[in-house]
Amino acid sequence: MGETARDALRVDDYHAHAPSPSSHVTLAEFAASPWASPPWLARVLAAAWGCIWGSFVNVVIHRVPRDVSVVRPGSQCPACGSPLRAIDNIPVISWLLLRGRARCCGARISPRYVVVELLGGLLGLAIFDVVVGALPGDTTIAHAAAIFLADFALAMALLAAAFIDAEHMYLPDAVTIGGTIFGVATPGLRAMSWFDALFGAGIGFLGVWLPFIVGYKALRGRVGMGLGDAKLVMLAGAWFGWPGVVFAVFAGAVQATLAAGIVLLARGKIEEPESVRTDREVLVRAADAGDEEARQALEADPLGTAPAEGIMAARLPFGPFLCVAILEWMLAGAWIQERWEF
Ligand SMILES: [Zn+2]
Repeated sequence: MGETARDALRVDDYHAHAPSPSSHVTLAEFAASPWASPPWLARVLAAAWGCIWGSFVNVVIHRVPRDVSVVRPGSQCPACGSPLRAIDNIPVISWLLLRGRARCCGARISPRYVVVELLGGLLGLAIFDVVVGALPGDTTIAHAAAIFLADFALAMALLAAAFIDAEHMYLPDAVTIGGTIFGVATPGLRAMSWFDALFGAGIGFLGVWLPFIVGYKALRGRVGMGLGDAKLVMLAGAWFGWPGVVFAVFAGAVQATLAAGIVLLARGKIEEPESVRTDREVLVRAADAGDEEARQALEADPLGTAPAEGIMAARLPFGPFLCVAILEWMLAGAWIQERWEF
């Protein structure tokens, strides 16, 4: 086996193997080749790759809720808008060297930037280690790379969605619907059938929409979850079938309850995110001044009225907890299913 891999990868022999030898090399052959040493190099690369994309996720978190292109202009200082030089835009390192301040204007740069970059790196490393590491040795490098890239893309989308929902209490359709379409298009990367993916997506959406949106509204006059949450659970089903749906909803709810308990103990109350309140205040002022569009926007939005007093009316974004649960299932789902035959 080791000899074959060495032969296949030697540059002299490259043309002797038809038609494209690299895509036929398996993980086992690659691991035995000189390309795979030192063994930690691939891990470092996966983590660095993750930090770089984490840096892009920061741009998405900042710009998508403000309706600004994520591509142009290039990276800017979030405080004064000056373009960032490449040297000041190195993930994690620049933030540490500049001690969390912008070089241009000296403004404090939120630690969120470095946290998101580190989470990107951690997710890159985890997907490489756990998901790719669990693939059978006869998996081709090309197939393993496709699995890594797809899971990594989902992880970055969920990372962005979690922070956007935590701050603004909405989940972008680009993530929830776009992610669902991507999941339904790629079941082969997760050894699933098309049916599993479509059935999972359907169960995911209806399983949240019917009880928590239609049913809750009929009983209590307000929705128990947002439509964005239903679309996010639909994504979980498209990627991981019905077991992914069950896990996302239950693990998400358990973790949200724990977090709510911790916030209550620490602060005595759960406040809605600041930008949700300020966005509403802007709309209310516009509506009071006679702006008809603002008035309709307030009426249509479940966040259009200030939350009632009391813990049962507290507004806690559920999306971040769903995102965490979906990532947990991506990394540990196979292990959980094996253990509990679920
Ligand atoms: Zn600045």
